[in-house]
Amino acid sequence: MAAGPVICAEGYVFELERRGYLQAGAYVPEVVLEHPEVVLQLHEEFLRAGSDVVVALTYYAHREKLRAVGLENRLEELNRKALELAKHAAAPSGALVAGNICNTWAYRPDDEAAAAEVRRQYTEQVGWAAEAGVDFILAETIEYVGEALIALEVIQSFGLPAVINFSPIYEKSKDGIGWAEACRIVKEHGADVVGFNCARGPATLLPLGRRLRKTVDGPIALVPVPYRTTADAISFQFLKRRGGSSAYTLGLDQHYIDRDEAADFARRAEALGTGFIGLCCGAGPHHIRAVAEALGRRPAASRYSADFSRHGLLGKQVKSHEKQFLELWK
Ligand SMILES: [Zn+2]
Repeated sequence: MAAGPVICAEGYVFELERRGYLQAGAYVPEVVLEHPEVVLQLHEEFLRAGSDVVVALTYYAHREKLRAVGLENRLEELNRKALELAKHAAAPSGALVAGNICNTWAYRPDDEAAAAEVRRQYTEQVGWAAEAGVDFILAETIEYVGEALIALEVIQSFGLPAVINFSPIYEKSKDGIGWAEACRIVKEHGADVVGFNCARGPATLLPLGRRLRKTVDGPIALVPVPYRTTADAISFQFLKRRGGSSAYTLGLDQHYIDRDEAADFARRAEALGTGFIGLCCGAGPHHIRAVAEALGRRPAASRYSADFSRHGLLGKQVKSHEKQFLELWK
């Protein structure tokens, strides 16, 4: 991060759902076992687009979730395969590989048995990631400070760097702590990078980022979703369809940010001094390329960045009889 922000493409689960390899609702990455070649392809697309990190697709691949969908017996196989795919994708370029853990749905404040269960689930996942030789662990979409501290403790027990990202769906954590303060607490316990991912779009995440920047020193992470969240709907969970019903998740397309907005977010995040910049659920390689180019990079996919001087009507060589049709395009 001394050489500039780390770019991290996330949102694998949404992208693979869109491509028809994963079910919305459960959002369990069975695709790792069913179609590993598709996961590998997506890793490569995000790398080509400028991601510095390959995040192993073990999101929601913890015991609690796999039990809920009847896949508990494939827990270890799924985790190990996802890690293998991430390592394989990263090898040619030497990109960073992140092991990935997330909110477990097993945590409950002031419940020691629940805390022990969370610790057990994180320990098995982080253990497999450590054995695979990941560079760091990304713990994300965590909503309880208590659960984040367990994640951090487990990651530290394996001697790995920890990026701890909260999902700021509400105004405070589910255990009632303001978000900047939540990050401060986790930082104080030794997290290497603290910040936010998912839930909020750039418009409602950047103000939180400004507060966070004032509250903690050292690297911070901002990884919004690529949707236009608002003061009334601070998180994409609260966005509405045109008819007024919930847009989460299948009606979210109408709220998409475009590439220029993704680039604008990246520039603002960098200006804030954000060391870990990415996009979460909904992001595609085209968004990540826009982020990378906004940060002054020229990833492999930039070879195909737009050049409208070569377009038939908008370009430099427009036939004289075609020019009459151009008026409406302006
Ligand atoms: Zn997300």
